[in-house]
Amino acid sequence: MTDAISVNFCIELRDKLAIELTELKNMLYFKNEEIKQLQNLIEKKETTMTELKTNIINNCDHEWETDFIDSLEGYKLSVPIRYCIKCELNDATHS
Ligand SMILES: [Zn+2]
Repeated sequence: MTDAISVNFCIELRDKLAIELTELKNMLYFKNEEIKQLQNLIEKKETTMTELKTNIINNCDHEWETDFIDSLEGYKLSVPIRYCIKCELNDATHS
């Protein structure tokens, strides 16, 4: 009697776990699909941003300024950098 209950309990538990595992796999699949969609959206927005930046730079009446940025924290050496105060184009992004 006890053995029968124990066997039935094990079968019931196994079935419940199998259902839960299937549900978790489905949930994981949908989450992965959601991530893919969001990655595509980010990619599209990045492309739009790049196009906008290029457009701004190409149509900017540049106003150049030279500034100095610290090469390393704690060091007094500074690196000169020329940039446009309107569109932020600089020697590094320009080359
Ligand atoms: Zn500019």
